[in-house]
Amino acid sequence: MRIVLLGPPGAGKGTQSKLMHERTTMTHISTGDLLRAAVSARTEIGVAAKSYMDRGELVPDSLVIGMIDEHLQHEGAPRSFMLDGFPRTVAQAEALQRMLETQHVPLDHVVSIDVPRNELVRRLSGRRTCRQCGAMFHLAFDPPGRPGVCDRCGGELFQREDDREETIRARLDVYDNATAPLVAFYRTRGTLRAVDGTGSTAAVLDRILAGMGVPVSADAPVRSEP
Ligand code: AMP
Repeated sequence: MRIVLLGPPGAGKGTQSKLMHERTTMTHISTGDLLRAAVSARTEIGVAAKSYMDRGELVPDSLVIGMIDEHLQHEGAPRSFMLDGFPRTVAQAEALQRMLETQHVPLDHVVSIDVPRNELVRRLSGRRTCRQCGAMFHLAFDPPGRPGVCDRCGGELFQREDDREETIRARLDVYDNATAPLVAFYRTRGTLRAVDGTGSTAAVLDRILAGMGVPVSADAPVRSEP
């Protein structure tokens, strides 16, 4: 199964992808995570992407499409995956379509997670990430046991450069301008499911799985077809 998770920053795409990864056999591919790893490793892509990311702007299509292409087109690449944060422009969506056509596989679902803007700002500005293991906390909703320290590994918690309030607003504007048109792009293709992204993470997960036709009450992992 191949799915795309759409939604503005803070809608819960990362959290839901991780939960779905535990419940299904789909590989989780996040372009944000791949780009942050590239920035940390100071690769050519990372060096080119860093200033865009720090400003909350989109990294140019050619860089991101090339990176995803490498991920999906090589020998042994996952055939069952969920894309989190890609595509973010219509050009990226068209590139994804071409990649899937080359492999003769369809895109099964596009799930759009909808959350009101005020709630997004509240969620993102309180977010803290562990420098060591990547675990995420929230100052109000999911605070760590000791301030500034990761409960899982003891690493230092930090606020992502792009989770500061001015950058958050810029990222939400970018979403409205560049990414929201994707909703229309996929709606006309009949693959779009809009899901209410407010409430508990478990409730949102149930809505997403129900929208994809996956049973929601089973505790056992769901095995998706490759
Ligand atoms: P995310 O973790 O998905 O919020 O992504 C963090 C940042 O990485 C974004 O604000 C962009 O600067 C960049 N980024 C991630 N995915 C993409 C993409 N598909 N296209 C362009 N830029 C991206």
